[in-house]
Amino acid sequence: MKSILAPPYEILIAKHTGMCFGVRQAIEATETLLKKNTATILGQLAHNPTVKSRLVAKGARTAPLEKSQAPTKQVIITAHGAADRDRKRWTNAGYQVTDTTCPLVKVAHAKLAKVVAEGFQPVIIGKEGHVEVRGLQGDFPKARVILHPDDIATIPHVKRIGIISQTTQPIDRVRALVNEVRKQRPEVEVVYFDTVCYPTKDRQTALHELCHAAELVFAIGGKNSNNTAQLARTARKLGCKAYHIEAPNDIKPEWLDGIRKIGVTAGTSTLDESLEAVVLHLQALAKTQKSFTKQLSKAS
Ligand code: SF4
Repeated sequence: MKSILAPPYEILIAKHTGMCFGVRQAIEATETLLKKNTATILGQLAHNPTVKSRLVAKGARTAPLEKSQAPTKQVIITAHGAADRDRKRWTNAGYQVTDTTCPLVKVAHAKLAKVVAEGFQPVIIGKEGHVEVRGLQGDFPKARVILHPDDIATIPHVKRIGIISQTTQPIDRVRALVNEVRKQRPEVEVVYFDTVCYPTKDRQTALHELCHAAELVFAIGGKNSNNTAQLARTARKLGCKAYHIEAPNDIKPEWLDGIRKIGVTAGTSTLDESLEAVVLHLQALAKTQKSFTKQLSKAS
């Protein structure tokens, strides 16, 4: 954990934070492609408006993955992956497909394929409708998606259940749900493959450390970033005040009243510069808070 002294407070930056290698690689591949061709991103490359507008400025277009019409010949599948039928539909429609699926999302597809091949009822721990989960379900339509203990009732009554998870789910929630499945279905053979990706695990572990040290945590990332929202939720569960912010201007100075240790973390689709901008803003706010404190002490 990095510490920056900015009296009257200290800014603590999580040991593991910000953009993961999977999103970074997808952005780099897209930028390389855009140097030569115009290209259409199928869905959102990253749940981050800054990333989106930067790629659009470089000539990227966007279209829904579920359709098969794009304004350019070259189309890009995002780091979250897609079902094979979607890839094939675009290829068969005559488009050149560049696939930037993260290797760790491919692991989740491979593990789900394994449980299906071995005759287990496939179950995904994840968020219904999330693009990665849609891709997994597209490949294995019999898969049930669960996120809460109540959802376990939707799993058919079978003898064998094979569970994997969306790569970005908090590992504590996943393990608790797997245990709950075993508890609710004691007669069933349950196998579980841990497909939560290590950047997600590292960020969650670093968040525990951050919350241990800080009174207030800022989780930086697009408002539509599920994993940034999850970081803020986990921080609150761990007993910190926490705010999900997109940019420095989202910070209300009164949030910092009486706070001495501020934690900063960022989602896996957040640019380094967004985190730096928040830290610089907190340093600038510290100066105004200091002069305000001086004025108060002079007046008293
Ligand atoms: S969050 Fe994990 S699975 Fe998703 S792109 Fe990043 S490294 Fe890959």
